[in-house]
Amino acid sequence: MSDDEIVRPNGKVYRSRKGLRWVEWAEEDYPPHGFIVFGTHDEDAARKLVANAPLDCDCKMADAAARAGWIRDGYRWGEREWIEDALHGAAAVILTFECLG
Ligand SMILES: [Zn+2]
Repeated sequence: MSDDEIVRPNGKVYRSRKGLRWVEWAEEDYPPHGFIVFGTHDEDAARKLVANAPLDCDCKMADAAARAGWIRDGYRWGEREWIEDALHGAAAVILTFECLG
């Protein structure tokens, strides 16, 4: 297994075809917000990738909580949403800020 291979919970090997990429996310009615870095479960690589991304608040990159997950684009109750899906999602590191403004 090479470094860029990540194994899904079901044992299948995931390979990123698009390399690392990131999106910003936010909840409409709640303070947390952050970034999803696709294509890796490497927390340090994810933090590096978004280190210079602009923030509209006083959150500091170093304060982001990071966790590995499997995320895909989808819909819930008709709303576009990022959905946890270990079977079909892309490997991702989710960075979350508990935003205070
Ligand atoms: Zn913030």
